[in-house]
Amino acid sequence: MRIDKWLANKGLGSRKEVHRLLKQGVVTVNNVVVTAKETAIDPEKDCVAVNGEPVSSQTIYYVKLHKPAGYITAVKDSRPTVMDILPQEYASMGVVPVGRLDKDTEGLLLLTNDGQWGHRVINGRKSVPKVYTFTYEGILSEEGLHRIRTGITLGDGTICKPAEITLLDDNRGRITVEEGKYHQVKRMIGAAGGTITYLKRLSVGTITLSGIEEVGQYDFLTEEEIHRFN
Ligand code: URA
Repeated sequence: MRIDKWLANKGLGSRKEVHRLLKQGVVTVNNVVVTAKETAIDPEKDCVAVNGEPVSSQTIYYVKLHKPAGYITAVKDSRPTVMDILPQEYASMGVVPVGRLDKDTEGLLLLTNDGQWGHRVINGRKSVPKVYTFTYEGILSEEGLHRIRTGITLGDGTICKPAEITLLDDNRGRITVEEGKYHQVKRMIGAAGGTITYLKRLSVGTITLSGIEEVGQYDFLTEEEIHRFN
């Protein structure tokens, strides 16, 4: 495999950033400096280091899953978990969900065994808007919607950041939130007078369900999608 592709897959930066590292002469293969981006390596046998730090040959996974309802977002539980949908090797390689969706929530869930990347998605400096569609019962008045749009206070006093909300018809809507508080969307809609009966996450940042439109489908993120959170 080409060294630039391999290093980018390891999360060391975009291809361009990796090319810069190579040019700087800080990348070694078996203790010999390499600068050519086309250098072929055998990830199983060669020891690649950047600034003297060996780059782990462990496979790093970045996965997007179209989570079905009925699965717990956890690695281990007595009930079915999202890990049961994925090949067993993912769990043994330390892949874990990035954030969580409730058991009855469907939609986009990211998973990885790159802890720093997962941390950046959840707690990074860049705000990451998450878009949900929902169906609801009850009344969402203009006043309730206004409170959601300007930062609604939940029953326990938690103040949410302003969120975009649009009602699509009598019992359906779409909401974009930038936070990931416990049961956030359900509690926001609840505080505004409605009760969520179905919730689906459509996107996290600019990552969408494209390519995994069917519930239960999963795929690897592209290099470009991974670097959106670098
Ligand atoms: N908000 C919720 O209430 N539940 C989810 O699963 C995700 C966001």
